[in-house]
Amino acid sequence: MTEQQNLNEDTNRNLGQATAKVVPRGSKEISNIFGDRRSSYNIEGYDRVIADEITDQQHQGIPLIDKAVIALVLIFTLLVFINFSFTSNDAKEDPDIDKTLFVTKIIELVILILFVLEISIRCFQNGFITYFSDCWSFFDALIIVASIVLIVLDLNLQGDAFTTISKVLRGIFRFLRLFLVFRKYNQVKKINNAGTRYTVRSPVEKVIEIMRDLADQFEDSDIIKQLNWGITHISNNTVYEPIIEGRKSEALGWLNQPQNQQLMASQESKKSSSIEIIFSNDTKLPEQLRQDFAQNILNLDYDYFSLFDRYDSAILTHLMCYYFEKEHLFSTLKISPDSFKKCMDQLGSNYHKENLYHNVIHAFDVTHTVYFFIEKCNFKEIGKLTKLDYSILLLSAAAHDVDHPGLNNIFLNNTRHELAMTYNDKSSLEQHHAATLFKCIRETELFSNFSIQDFKYFREKSISMILSTDNAMHGKDFNKLKARLASNDFDPGSKDKGICFDTLLHAADISNPFKPMKNYEKWTFRVLGEFWQQGDREKDMGLPVTMLCDRRTTNVAKSQIGFIDFMVLPYYNTLQQILPVLAEFMEQISENKRYWAEQIEHYQTLLNTQ
Ligand SMILES: [Zn+2]
Repeated sequence: MTEQQNLNEDTNRNLGQATAKVVPRGSKEISNIFGDRRSSYNIEGYDRVIADEITDQQHQGIPLIDKAVIALVLIFTLLVFINFSFTSNDAKEDPDIDKTLFVTKIIELVILILFVLEISIRCFQNGFITYFSDCWSFFDALIIVASIVLIVLDLNLQGDAFTTISKVLRGIFRFLRLFLVFRKYNQVKKINNAGTRYTVRSPVEKVIEIMRDLADQFEDSDIIKQLNWGITHISNNTVYEPIIEGRKSEALGWLNQPQNQQLMASQESKKSSSIEIIFSNDTKLPEQLRQDFAQNILNLDYDYFSLFDRYDSAILTHLMCYYFEKEHLFSTLKISPDSFKKCMDQLGSNYHKENLYHNVIHAFDVTHTVYFFIEKCNFKEIGKLTKLDYSILLLSAAAHDVDHPGLNNIFLNNTRHELAMTYNDKSSLEQHHAATLFKCIRETELFSNFSIQDFKYFREKSISMILSTDNAMHGKDFNKLKARLASNDFDPGSKDKGICFDTLLHAADISNPFKPMKNYEKWTFRVLGEFWQQGDREKDMGLPVTMLCDRRTTNVAKSQIGFIDFMVLPYYNTLQQILPVLAEFMEQISENKRYWAEQIEHYQTLLNTQ
């Protein structure tokens, strides 16, 4: 919308108000209920509407096995109480009671066998050793098996000769059943808690919702247009942008300097495009590695940890060369493969090997995940990616934690670290990662053939992406994203490309719970290990210990459930509105959460015995 249109609309406002009338709320209201919950945007001419609430229900519901366990526990409890309300004497005196008790025992036996089946399924899902590493799970299994044996004996021991044995067995059995009911109730409670979802909304979402409701109240198209104009500016975060009245050209000279620069950049761009340089796309990647990448590049289960034993930090160079070759970025963007390798080697060697988490493997993992979003989740078409866009997404991911000292921003600020002093306590680490990337790019003359315009575009997007990986920005950035998604004109292929880039990198950076447990668990111990090393230093220095950094109080399982509930799950649910294909992979997060829910007691025991 041009400034002239804005001004025209401003002058039309009074006219619109004079003719406006309130209409009763009817069918529009009903459609607006859906409107509140859905976001629509346009991809290559097709208007897509994604009902996020519907996918939420599909993917966050309690799985069948847990529902079955809840039902079984309820029936089992009922039977235990029926059994408790009758004594064996009642049964002797009344044949009906005896018959009822017999039937309840048979049903109990069936339920106990089903519990055995449940344990077998969980063993199959989580692995036998993992499941029984929790001593309570082992104890449960023991009680269930013992109870089955006792019921079978109880049903078969008849006559006075066995009365004494029978009495003792009944006593033990009653106690065991009570204990089992207690344990199973705890399990049900955990399952229910695992299904809990948190809804965090921002005022801007509420404002947009109110304005939408208001627009629904009017028939006058001018007023609706004014309200939509307001919604557009609020959701674009442009409410403080200047609207220039009168002679614009002079004011623009002062206020909007980049306009002039942009003109120069486009001329420069024409100049540089006339130089014909052809670069080969062959980087002489080791053949075995090329095949390994080809097989696993879209595989979230990829066991890339072993690659580092063989290739060390050069693995990042190899991965990036593979992507650049595959997507023909060398020839299209006129990037010299030699400069590229030098730049990647420099980045790789600037990741600290001694860091448990923020090392080159993490850079590999995040880049791998970003490519998964591009290719498997089809962001290449949704975001209408150009070759330059590919290079921005991949390079920013590879460099997003370069030269990370294994300490977080809070520690750097508290200890007056050099980086905190350089960047004035504002996302110091992320600023440093971005600055280091551009230092490497400059030193290796990576973009010597880029136009000023392309370089500026790359730099702006890349810096924004890397800065968005500061978790302190998560809440604000997430609310901005939701406001954009709630707007009428969300367009991931054009005006919202930047916010989508930021979102993809941040999502990849917090993607551990999105991965199969085999990889997720390794990352969990690595990240907490690094946090705890920081906590040890904080204690030694007499500083307050940062949350999750105290090895004596952090319950590993609880920390991950909190991470999933507060950050990962809400973020990925929203990300599905941009990448609908993601829905196919969301169950993994819930499955991982259930795994941790079952491990809480195990980790609590470890903490208590420290
Ligand atoms: Zn990271």
